Amino acid sequence: MTDHTADSFNALLTKQLAAANAKLDELRSCPAGAEPQKVAKAFDAIGAELGEVYGLSELFAAVHPSEDVRGAAEEASQKISAFTTALGLDRKAFEAFEALEVPEDADPSLKRFVEHTLRDFRRSGVDQDEATRKEITRLQEELVKVGQSFDRNIMGGGRELRLENGHGDLAGMPADFLSAHPEDDDGSVTLSTDPTDFLPVLLYADKDEVRHGIFMQFHQRAFPENVPVLKELLALRHELATKLGYDHWAHWVCEDKMIRRSEAAAEFIATIAERARPVGAQEREELVAERQKSEPDADRVEPWQARYLMERVKRGRFSFDSQSVRPYFPYRGVLDGVLATTESLFGVETRRNETEPVWHPSVECYDVFENGELTARFYLDMFPREGKFKHAAMFDIVGGKPGKAIPQAALVCNFPEPTDEDPALLLHDQVTTIFHEFGHLLHHLFAVQPWYGFSGIRCEWDFVEVPSQLYEEWAWSVGVLQKFARHHETGEPIPAELVARLRAAEEYGKGLGVMGQMLYARFALNLYDRDPAGIEPGDLLEKLQKEMTFYEKVPGTAMECAFGHLHGYSASYYTYMWSLVISKDFFGAFKGDLMDAELAQRYRSAVLAPGGAQDAAELVRSFLGRDVEFDAWEAWLASK
Ligand SMILES: [Zn+2]
Repeated sequence: MTDHTADSFNALLTKQLAAANAKLDELRSCPAGAEPQKVAKAFDAIGAELGEVYGLSELFAAVHPSEDVRGAAEEASQKISAFTTALGLDRKAFEAFEALEVPEDADPSLKRFVEHTLRDFRRSGVDQDEATRKEITRLQEELVKVGQSFDRNIMGGGRELRLENGHGDLAGMPADFLSAHPEDDDGSVTLSTDPTDFLPVLLYADKDEVRHGIFMQFHQRAFPENVPVLKELLALRHELATKLGYDHWAHWVCEDKMIRRSEAAAEFIATIAERARPVGAQEREELVAERQKSEPDADRVEPWQARYLMERVKRGRFSFDSQSVRPYFPYRGVLDGVLATTESLFGVETRRNETEPVWHPSVECYDVFENGELTARFYLDMFPREGKFKHAAMFDIVGGKPGKAIPQAALVCNFPEPTDEDPALLLHDQVTTIFHEFGHLLHHLFAVQPWYGFSGIRCEWDFVEVPSQLYEEWAWSVGVLQKFARHHETGEPIPAELVARLRAAEEYGKGLGVMGQMLYARFALNLYDRDPAGIEPGDLLEKLQKEMTFYEKVPGTAMECAFGHLHGYSASYYTYMWSLVISKDFFGAFKGDLMDAELAQRYRSAVLAPGGAQDAAELVRSFLGRDVEFDAWEAWLASK
């Protein structure tokens, strides 16, 4: 990668847009009766020409330390999106495709490519009359800008909580947290809403006011800025969907997913929520009982108390303290562990590349080799900083094409950063996050396809969380953990009995967890499966929360303002649970031995390598030999 400035980035954009336009001209000038393969390849090449600058624009807008580059990246996104919209509405290009006569015995990937392209042309509105196509163009343009403001407000919307009594307010917090948060001259401590502060405080701070305080700040991020932005996003998407001939945006979104229809998504959410409720109800009773130990009159649990109380139940019932495993999870050891696990499972070699330029000094570049040949490259941007994306995600940069381009991607996370004095000990939760993101990464890096449009994670989007959630299972296995989880002082591997307690304890609370996920999924769906005129997102959330969980919405919070998925995933937040059902089913196949390299290879070639070249339902069948079943997921939910 080049060491980009705003100028060099703009130059890259100009160059790649020009190349894409040249390919578009080629496509438009294909004579009637042209070879289907030739027309399809010309179309595919357009996407490939834009690939790198598109990937980098999304990545840099989220992470680049230079505000100029972030701005250039946002502008590039707008221009690329304008180009893509115009392409989707290009009658000449569409007609070139419509006229194709693909023979019955043609290569299946060619047939699929042509079918998908025609489908996507229609989904873009190419069939509409000219006035409607103009309206669609305007709406798409506005949508990009509104979506960008929504994301930008969240990234810049971090808040703080000042504790006047400093460490006196932080009873219960681990020693390394206190030393990483020294008191100011006036004796106060300021906490941020970044995950590195927010999560540990909710888990460990003994003072209820402190947990309440950080909870309130966390759920006021991007509030009130995103109140009107979210409404505009909903209104524009609804208008666009109706212009395209759909009842609402959720219909449009679900159509090209595994689930196909938004009604099926609603049904799925209802089914899962119903099955989780009895498990959650029992957990809730136990949390209330735990609270009553110090407050005998309490008859409920507030959302900022749940994780803290769960932590105490785990200590009592499973003699497990989530602090006790942290010494085995220094950041560097965990990273080396996930790399080594990946290497032996998939027969690849990862090597640090110290010469390739990176966008921030803390970013690391790695090359992947197979049989001595460079096959992929990835970047790790793992620590929080001002103005950076606040969650964990994989950003694909370049899609792989055999003999032409090696796949490239970046993982963006927010873990505590190790220093000479502080090894940055992770919670087990954070260890599973690394495996999760590596699951996405491997999917992208292994899906190298001759068609650019099928390479990388271009599967149906509600399948996309399968490889990531499946790889989380490796972070729970004694055999896997003992290979890398060594005590940062003694070097001793994590004891098997501690892992057993960790598993029992961490599984605790999943009923409530699934209920919370279904609340988010239904909220996201219901914002988009009707005319949003008159919907107050905050009110809808309050109503659903009452109906679907055991908590009331806390007055003054506005979680919807910082719920970034409402932009990126829009109506399809159900994806996580849908994918989890599939990944639990896949996990069953691995139960014998997680380090079975032969099975891993079969998984890689059946599920990861095809990228978007097959329907996800086919990937499932080719790995499991049958359709997906709920049994494994239900067994997981019921297990204690
Ligand atoms: Zn994910």
